[in-house]
Amino acid sequence: MDIAVVGAGAAGLMASGLLANRGENVVCFDHNEKAGKKLYITGKGRCNFTNLCEPVEFLSNVVRGEKFLRSSIYNFTPQNCIDFFESLGLESKVERGNRAFPQSDKSSDVIKALERHCKEVKFKFGSKITSIYKNGEKFVIILDGEKLTFDRVILATGGVSYSATGSDGSGYRFAKAFGHTINELVPALCPIKIKGLKQLQGLSLKNVTLKGLIDGKKREFFGEMLFTDEGISGPIALTCSSYINRAKEVKLSLDLKPALDYEKLDARLLRDFDENKNKNISYVFKGLLPSSLVPVFAERVGIALDKKVNAISREERKRILETLKDFKLDYCGLYDINAGIVTSGGVELSEVNPKTFESKLVSGLYLIGEMLDVDALTGGFNLQIAFATAYSCAENM
Ligand SMILES: Cc1cc2nc3c(=O)[nH]c(=O)nc-3n(C[C@H](O)[C@H](O)[C@H](O)COP(=O)(O)OP(=O)(O)OC[C@H]3O[C@@H](n4cnc5c(N)ncnc54)[C@H](O)[C@@H]3O)c2cc1C
Repeated sequence: MDIAVVGAGAAGLMASGLLANRGENVVCFDHNEKAGKKLYITGKGRCNFTNLCEPVEFLSNVVRGEKFLRSSIYNFTPQNCIDFFESLGLESKVERGNRAFPQSDKSSDVIKALERHCKEVKFKFGSKITSIYKNGEKFVIILDGEKLTFDRVILATGGVSYSATGSDGSGYRFAKAFGHTINELVPALCPIKIKGLKQLQGLSLKNVTLKGLIDGKKREFFGEMLFTDEGISGPIALTCSSYINRAKEVKLSLDLKPALDYEKLDARLLRDFDENKNKNISYVFKGLLPSSLVPVFAERVGIALDKKVNAISREERKRILETLKDFKLDYCGLYDINAGIVTSGGVELSEVNPKTFESKLVSGLYLIGEMLDVDALTGGFNLQIAFATAYSCAENM
């Protein structure tokens, strides 16, 4: 069989190698000059290539497409992924939160392993495909004015974020031309824009809870975050972005003291006030908050920093308490989609068979990886999705 794979990223390389190794004639196209450009920058250059957990737990980290991905994640589990890379000579290690990395900490070693896997694949790099269409039972790919024919086509062109890596969204055009619905593309795992807190840029907070009221539904994200030039980023902000990216109404706030409920925090304030009666309130604030947050916090609660603790009214103490537990963030959207670690949205899942990844609209056409309307949290889940969808596609073709 003559098979064209468009995209030499995580999904395209996995599928190409599997098919070529069983004797199919596979040509893998990429408009980049080499394979795995996005893979190279994953995991800050270390490539967190899967998450070594059970499929059930894995699926709970999928934000969109959980049901659709069930079959492929069970068919090619995170353990299978580790074994697959080991069979290609790549040793791995598992870190906090079951995150699997190459032992060498080098994403380039993951790419090299995939290149070894693809030694029977014919690559066409730097290729600008103008169009792909079906003529009878055959697919025709127009490349630099030349017509190439194939029995099967796999689209593995990724999303639209970090477009400099090659995933510039041009692949969706091919899917659309075959009649597929492309659901709105929105950023996921993306920094969040917050108005009016520029002065906090660079401040990172640990052990805080980012609280969201998302289209009327409450969600909380506990952990670390940091303030950026235009808003917030870091683990909990990125996670939160994946849940608010399609919402109509979003309200965000921070619980700066999540370990203490209102009563306990009030008791702590009373104790602090009692011990520091004759000091300025700034002294108490500094014991509760990082110093760069103190002036912003004082302005929020409307109390001058040089006000004496013994002059703080009951009403003011209540405001301090409420602001510590519910520090409102003026949400004004997400960063540009190019800044998202993954793209949410893409090829409508009801149009694709979740076992084979064959299009339900066009026989012989397959769609895998991030171009599908699936996305997951950070921790190696998104690459595992790319590998698992590619695996099931190749295995069942
Ligand atoms: C900074 C960053 C860090 C990340 N870190 C992690 C991590 O540590 N762990 C994790 O699980 N996930 C991570 N991800 C997400 C992960 O990289 C992607 O989900 C994954 O690469 C998707 O694989 P894919 O094969 O579907 O798409 P891609 O890897 O994007 O590959 C698509 C390929 O198709 C090619 N292509 C596109 N259009 C065309 C066209 N028209 N013609 C020819 N070729 C085309 C592109 O050049 C590209 O090579 C990270 C993402 C980013 C941006």
